Amino acid sequence: MSDLLDTNETPAKELGPRPGLAPGQTVWELLAAVSPRIKDNPNTYEAQQLNRVSLDQCVKCTICETMCPVAKVTPLFSGPKFVGPQAERFRNGESVDHTLDYCSSCGICTLNCPQDVKIAEINSMARAVMKKDHMPLRDRLITQTELEGRLLTPFAPVANWALKQKPIRVAVEKVVGVHRDAPMPVAQSQSIKGWLKHRKGPAPRRPGQPDRGPVVFFTGCAGTYFEVETSKKTIEVLEHLGFEVLVPKQGCCGLAEQSNGLFDSARKRVVKLCEQLNAAGKELTVISSSGSCAGMIKHEAHEIMGVDDPAVRSVGTRMRETSEFLLDLFDEGELPTDFKSLEMKIPYHAPCQVKSQGMGMPAIRLMELVPGIRVIESEENCCGIAGTYGLKKEKYDVAQAVGRNLFEKVKEHNEGLAVCDTETCRWQIRNSTGVSTVHPVHVIHAAYGLSDVFSPEV
Ligand code: SF4
Ligand code: SF4
Ligand code: SF4
Repeated sequence: MSDLLDTNETPAKELGPRPGLAPGQTVWELLAAVSPRIKDNPNTYEAQQLNRVSLDQCVKCTICETMCPVAKVTPLFSGPKFVGPQAERFRNGESVDHTLDYCSSCGICTLNCPQDVKIAEINSMARAVMKKDHMPLRDRLITQTELEGRLLTPFAPVANWALKQKPIRVAVEKVVGVHRDAPMPVAQSQSIKGWLKHRKGPAPRRPGQPDRGPVVFFTGCAGTYFEVETSKKTIEVLEHLGFEVLVPKQGCCGLAEQSNGLFDSARKRVVKLCEQLNAAGKELTVISSSGSCAGMIKHEAHEIMGVDDPAVRSVGTRMRETSEFLLDLFDEGELPTDFKSLEMKIPYHAPCQVKSQGMGMPAIRLMELVPGIRVIESEENCCGIAGTYGLKKEKYDVAQAVGRNLFEKVKEHNEGLAVCDTETCRWQIRNSTGVSTVHPVHVIHAAYGLSDVFSPEV
């Protein structure tokens, strides 16, 4: 009994002021005075600090451990409970556990934690601190998606040829650290900007379709330079349905930088992008065919990087993923469903970036409105790529192991096509199964008779 701490020994009122807190000073002011992370940042860190304190809600149930796709396949990672809430208690600056770098930031732990501990967000914040002064050159390079698009587009055939040559990939692996077998985007000779500039005019509207006013389309870097076909089809479906599609000048959302810990640059990018999208109309719906970039704007920029910016808030509340937007129209009785029949079975993978937005899986209900379509949901949590994670030499095998069950299901159930809402996941599934993998809008575009469902994809 005498070894136990007597919690009544010192009454709270006798503890006196908090050490270091000057009379009248708030905790925030003290934190800003002692922490450059708070003081030198233009954004508030309140969201980040709130995520951090959620660690106290952990009841050590280990549900996150059983759900984490990375911990399931490798002993190199200590697991979400350990590197998340447990390790965070001991962090004051750099992480005490460097296996943290094996967390892919997929967010599955946060989605499944019954106590609402922000495990993935805590990990992302801690990784940014851990890598701050020794960020690998590779991680800086692979996050420059917009620059890569700009550089590769004028040389698309040569770039695509080069990226298929084994000796070149081996050299890239050795010098840069991108695995020789990792999925690569396919460069296109014309960006979406080039297509918009040179096309003859909007796609034909449905006969008798009244004008439905303007919407803004956020293309994302992949949709601008690599998955141009997805962007074209999104624009054409919306125009077919009577919308005027505004595509303002726009840059990158900074997601790849955020997930690699380059917060300062990512913050600037997401704010600038949202100002650009806002410039097209401050009250218009913003449509995105990139599930992961939409997640960045809707919640990750705020929750992980503490961005508290009016433009980001405004765009985030108006942003809809394409399938979500079309299904909302259907639920309001506003979506014409005179689709042509497409007799096929389609394996579909819902990326966690979309699941984390709390919209369910609109792509499934949407595609099943098309007569003849039978959607086979993958029921798998992750494809393994996690943005740029599965590209990295040291993470490639882990990413492949994470995605293995999904790849098997896609191979078993496909009839020439698979569907997924985010681009890097599509590249991963395509690369690991050989099955053409597209955004759900391809199916809807075909069902409206605007193309063949097997029309060219990147
Ligand atoms: S699921 Fe949540 S409560 Fe359970 S161990 Fe993980 S962090 Fe703690
Ligand atoms: S974010 Fe994903 S990889 Fe990281 S700990 Fe959570 S479940 Fe595991
Ligand atoms: S790569 Fe795709 S499926 Fe995997 S974690 Fe990211 S969004 Fe989810």
